[in-house]
Amino acid sequence: MTLATTLVRFAPSPTGYLHIGNARPALLNALFARRTGGRFLLRLDDTDAERSTEAFAQAVREDLAWLGITPDLFARQSARKDAHDAAAERLRTAGRLYPCYETPEELERRRRRQLGRGQPPIYDRAALALTAEERAALEAEGRRPHWRFLLEPRTVAWDDLVRGPAHVDCASLSDPVLIRADGSYLYTLPSVVDDADLGVTHVIRGEDHVTNTGVQVQIFEALGAAVPVFGHHNLLTTADGEGLSKRLGHLSLRGLREAGYEPAAVRSLAVLTGSAEAVRAVESLDALADLVDLGEISRAPARFDPAELDGLNARLVHAMPHAQAAGRLAALGVPDAIAEPFWLAVRANLGRVAEAGEWWRVVAGPVEPALTEPAVIAAARETLPPEPFGPDTWKTWTGEVRARTGAKGRALFMPLRLALTGLDHGPDLAGLLPLIGRARALARLSGQAA
Ligand code: GLU
Repeated sequence: MTLATTLVRFAPSPTGYLHIGNARPALLNALFARRTGGRFLLRLDDTDAERSTEAFAQAVREDLAWLGITPDLFARQSARKDAHDAAAERLRTAGRLYPCYETPEELERRRRRQLGRGQPPIYDRAALALTAEERAALEAEGRRPHWRFLLEPRTVAWDDLVRGPAHVDCASLSDPVLIRADGSYLYTLPSVVDDADLGVTHVIRGEDHVTNTGVQVQIFEALGAAVPVFGHHNLLTTADGEGLSKRLGHLSLRGLREAGYEPAAVRSLAVLTGSAEAVRAVESLDALADLVDLGEISRAPARFDPAELDGLNARLVHAMPHAQAAGRLAALGVPDAIAEPFWLAVRANLGRVAEAGEWWRVVAGPVEPALTEPAVIAAARETLPPEPFGPDTWKTWTGEVRARTGAKGRALFMPLRLALTGLDHGPDLAGLLPLIGRARALARLSGQAA
């Protein structure tokens, strides 16, 4: 028996930068592909020629790459217009796509009338009743039709990967407009045609698309195409329940990247929020794929606090091996030869890797020392051991200073920290001292900026 390989897709419109809320479907699809040994299609839904740009299209690819997602396949809807036209023609021939001439104002008046009468504001299909002459007369007035899909008034049901048994009562929906009066397509039909032609097996997307699924299943069926499996996940919202939009620029993936967050922190938050798993820092995509089963995603909104990113990021940085930080340390000016001990000395104090720059400045100087307890400082200067400094130098040295002065605990360590670093907080000095070295340490203990 051959099993059809899973093909999932992530289908953003390149009309803005991806944000953390978009990362959720992107990742849930990518993780599903990983779990099932399937492939991932990146499809740009760029039928809106006015708002789609090449720069945003490029940004989508870069942002996915940053998240660790490398699409196996790529498509863009704007290149597939012939297929969309052919499908529209088939629907016309089958009597499932019909021309309508109402203006937005006419539709709005009708809608208000229906609401006034307590009726649901569903399109009344008046255009279906137009005779050929009436249509010709409207066209002669200069009106151009938009095209609606004739829904069958029935319930469409499916077994949702996330929600379990799900259904949409299509009898309560307006026939959706598939083609605008200017001939351009709304997203609904091209999405079905592309999913069908490209062999998408699983459509995993936000629950804001549940109603679309009812409509789109009918379109798949009208086109005689295999209906994919659907899964609708809950949407990420801010802690006060506000949805995420492209407006929330600071949560754009590139904004988060520029702010120095690790992709694994963003991934963990985007995926684990609103899942059965506790939100925690998960380093690899494989580990995340093992954790997250679509069937265990909650149906409640996935509320998150952007501040959680800081905690997740810090945990990742505290455990990060030197090799993973090496490139960024070099960019901060840390010489390769001491980058590893430096990293191991400072990482526990960092929220983000870039903050290592501050501690590198403390190591390399110049540091403006703050001299407080003269007796401690004098003893420290006199007992500073000769080089080479090693991991035990700090302990030996401070033991010596304690023996001479009687100072201990904070009274011993704080004056030394202030003198050596100019700061009252920071990484363990046992790790920093060998990096600062004897000459700089002595200068600082003597009150010189070094
Ligand atoms: N372009 C659509 C969106 O961004 C795709 C929805 C879908 O996955 O079908 O909402």
